[in-house]
Amino acid sequence: MQKPVAEFWYGIEACHHNVLRLRETWIDPYLAGNIWLVRGSERDLVIDAGTGIVSPRLVIDSMVNKPVLAVACACYYDHAGGLHYFAERGCHRLDADQIANPTDESSVVSTYVSEAMLTALPYDGFEAANYRMQGAPPTVCFDDGDIIDLGDRRLEVLHVPGVTPGSMVLWEAATGSLFTCDTLYDDPVLERDFAVGDPITFADTLERLRGLPVNTVFAGHYQSFGRERMLELIDRILRAKRAQIQ
Ligand SMILES: [Zn+2]
Repeated sequence: MQKPVAEFWYGIEACHHNVLRLRETWIDPYLAGNIWLVRGSERDLVIDAGTGIVSPRLVIDSMVNKPVLAVACACYYDHAGGLHYFAERGCHRLDADQIANPTDESSVVSTYVSEAMLTALPYDGFEAANYRMQGAPPTVCFDDGDIIDLGDRRLEVLHVPGVTPGSMVLWEAATGSLFTCDTLYDDPVLERDFAVGDPITFADTLERLRGLPVNTVFAGHYQSFGRERMLELIDRILRAKRAQIQ
């Protein structure tokens, strides 16, 4: 049966700490990542840019009147696919090549993208089989410890390899906010294997996150959650990963 064409591709939700969430509401939420807009006094920060099936710029430009930096915290299509729409764009140094020159494998398009992931079409005639992640050479590359300064707020880049070699999370100490992309999210399918490239490195990453005084995790998928839930999730994933390693 022909799917309907979506009237609005993005849903917008206001969160606390002057953060907005954009979601591609017609894509299976496991397969479409959250896009976070963090409002600063001098510039705004877009954390992850979605699939890029529909440009997020129209929605974002309607809400901001300052320079915008967009970053992708992993090289996968559901977070880096929309990065090319932004003039100022960044990622971790180790994911830069795969974001500039993605393949269907490196972007995991070949693993996850199919017609079944859509409940509505972005426009008439769209075919998932023709979707490719568009390359976006970063204009800035980050290393662990770098600070993204928005004027009145500062987010620290934490390099957290495991899901991809250049996976990073962003940490705002002043509000206790942690933006985790694919490194940590609250999956309602509780027993799903948490797919990572390197379970040993990933376990170290989770131990590092465990020690942060987090108030809110703004994850790459699904809903935000607090520190208690973060510790539960980390401990559960660590148990599973340690069982795999042994
Ligand atoms: Zn993801």
